[in-house]
Amino acid sequence: MLSSDEAKWIMAQAYAGETIPVTTLCGRCFYNLRGLSYDGVCPECGWRYNAAPLVMEGVFIARQTSPPIGQGLMALCCSAVAGLLLAYTVTWLSIWALTLAIVMVIAAERWATAFITGLREYRSYLRAMKRLASDDLSPD
Ligand SMILES: [Zn+2]
Repeated sequence: MLSSDEAKWIMAQAYAGETIPVTTLCGRCFYNLRGLSYDGVCPECGWRYNAAPLVMEGVFIARQTSPPIGQGLMALCCSAVAGLLLAYTVTWLSIWALTLAIVMVIAAERWATAFITGLREYRSYLRAMKRLASDDLSPD
């Protein structure tokens, strides 16, 4: 069994000297690296990248191509439920309501983090698409 570092090394060797045939964007400035070598430096911003399959370091990967609405709604719902449970806890001095409230606060925090991460990745995606359009190159 190969370690992931060994697999990456083998892929990097296999693609040495080849050029990237498809639209692949620089992970920092979204410059289109198509036609350049798999392992190199972005000619626009100097960012080091390796676009060999399984390696894919320093290149843009679209993780979020739509706004993270679901995560945002879950964060809001969990916060609302946590608020209600806290009100119940204070009113009835219920240890069970307090326990559930803590669980809901943790859940709300997780969803809020997912929402913020999703928003950041979605913004990168929009910037990448804008850059691609302004360079007048169609994705393939
Ligand atoms: Zn770049």
